[in-house]
Parts: sequence; C-alpha cells; structure tokens
Amino acid sequence: MRLLDGKEVSAKIKEDIKKEAAEFTAKAGRKPHLVAILVGNDGGSETYVASKMRNCELVGFESTNIRYGVDITEEELIAKIQEINQDDTIDGLIVQLPLPKHIDPDKITEAIDYRKDVDGFHPINLGRMQRNLPCFIPATPYGIMMMLEHYGIDTSGKHAVVVGRSNIVGSPMSILLARNSNPGNCTVTLTHSRTADLKTEVLRGDIVVAAIGKKNFVTADMVKDGAIVIDVGINRENSTETKSGFKLYGDVDFEEVSKKASWITPVPGGVGLMTIVGLLKNTLEAAKGTIYTK
Ligand code: NDP
Repeated sequence: MRLLDGKEVSAKIKEDIKKEAAEFTAKAGRKPHLVAILVGNDGGSETYVASKMRNCELVGFESTNIRYGVDITEEELIAKIQEINQDDTIDGLIVQLPLPKHIDPDKITEAIDYRKDVDGFHPINLGRMQRNLPCFIPATPYGIMMMLEHYGIDTSGKHAVVVGRSNIVGSPMSILLARNSNPGNCTVTLTHSRTADLKTEVLRGDIVVAAIGKKNFVTADMVKDGAIVIDVGINRENSTETKSGFKLYGDVDFEEVSKKASWITPVPGGVGLMTIVGLLKNTLEAAKGTIYTK
C-alpha cells in the first residue's frame, strides 16, 4: 500500500502557486484576491473558511472574509454578491455552504459571476466542464485529479466507482474521471443511496472514490485487492484526545481497507488539503484571466 499524501502534494503545488502569485503581483501591482462569505457560525464552516484564508496568505494572495449572522436575508446576500461581481480588485468569490434554510443555495450560486466562481459550482462552469472546455473545476474533484497526476497514476481504462452524487463532489468527480484525458479515460459507475447492490458495485472498482459523509462506511469487504481508494469524507466527532476538541474520520475504514488497497488517501492529510489547492489554483487562474479573459 502506498499513501496518496495530501501533505506532500499540496506543499509542492502551493510552492508553484506562490511563485506564480508573486509574478502576478509584480505585474499587476496587486495580489490575487479571494473573498469568502460566511453566514452563521457552523463549526465546520468556520474551520474551512479559516483554513482557506490562512492558505491564501501563505501563497501570497489577499483574502477577505465577510461574515453575516444567520438572519441576513437572501436579497441582502445577493446584493453583496452583485457588488463584489462589479469589483475589479476581487478575482474570486466563494460563499461557504451550508447556508441557513431561508436562503436558496442555487440562487446564491447563480448570483455569483461565473468568471469569479472559483468554487466551480455555477451551472456555466459545470456545463463547460461537462463539455471539456476551460472552466473552474470544483475544488475537491480538481484536487483529486491533481493528486492522481502528481503520483503519475495511469487511470486510463480503469473502472472507477464513485460513491455519492453530490453537485460538489460525486457528480463532477464522475465527469472528470470519464473525460478523454489522463487522469481520466475511466469507465465510471456513479452510485448513491438508491443503488441496488452497493457492495457488488464498489467491488468492481479499480478506483473507488468515497464521498458519502458517513464514518468508515466503506469497509474492506467492499474493496477489491489492489484498488486505488480516495476518501473524500470528513466526519467530525467530539473528542477529548485532541486540542481542537474534535477528531476527523473519513468515509473509508482506513485501517482495514489500507491492507487491500494499492494506493489510499488518509483522513486527515489527504483530499481535504488538495481541496484547498484546487481553490487556490482556481483563484490564481481567475486573477490571471487565463480561463475567462477579463
Ligand atoms: P452530500 O451529503 O451532499 O452527498 C452524499 C452522497 O452520498 C449522496 O449522493 C447520497 O446519496 C450518498 N449516500 C448517502 N448515504 C449513502 C448510502 N448508504 N449508500 C450509498 N450512497 C449514500 O455530501 P458531499 O458530497 O457534500 O460530501 C460527502 C463527504 O465529503 C462529507 O463527509 C463531506 O464532509 C466531505 N467533503 C469533503 C471535502 C474535502 O475537502 N475533503 C469537500 C467536500 C465534502 P443520495 O444522493 O441518494 O442522497
């Protein structure tokens, strides 16, 4: 078993991004700038946004965190997004999900100018990704593809089984793995909670991507010998063992599955770190105007 080490890969790619950011800053007279809007005080969201902001600073980006209480209206949030859309000094805008129930996440996603949509959730970016056109790719699947590329894993002709069909992870992952490129060129099975015999499907996977949101859901009896296992899950549990007061678990039973896998991502230290890299890459591209001209 070999580890798909998010720490190693993210550090290497972040060094490259840092150099490119410095070049951009020297030319443009300002840093690439990411704005993150956070509504409410969900513990997970707070941690993710803080980490995104910290990583922006690390690679030489400017980052702004705009915070609102849970009582902000949908109209007020959209008005702020429209203001940011018009601001030429802001390259990327993300609105951290989940949002309070009275705010429609689809409306918010579509209010963001697709040229600043560095989360890659806007239907224009998703449509362009489907057609293999330049676009912002959702950060988690993008990060996973970079990880496979870094380790030179040839995915061509392999059978990939994705568990979970969310708009932000499972579905885009299935599109990217099926694309005519390497990494890519997989035969893909996309599974979900209505899949009839999940175990049989997952057992067929040369590559298994688990994006379910259930601790240790993928067990060793579900995975074929030599499979490449990508664990997207981040399941937080309170713990007295850690300083933060919680512990993270993946969707894969790492201890047992790692005995069968040829490659596997740990949690933490795997896909989560690559997601940040995906976001930083998209923000840099947004600043440089290489995907959509400014
Ligand atoms: P969602 O809750 O949006 O989607 C979960 C998916 O899993 C759904 O498609 C659901 O099926 C499927 N599912 C749930 N139960 C089962 C089951 N028993 N059998 C088969 N499929 C099932 O989650 P996300 O995609 O947003 O996130 C998934 C996990 O990844 C979470 O732990 C999340 O925290 C983590 N995550 C990690 C990131 C990272 O950077 N590492 C980034 C984003 C998410 P159905 O559609 O039928 O309901």
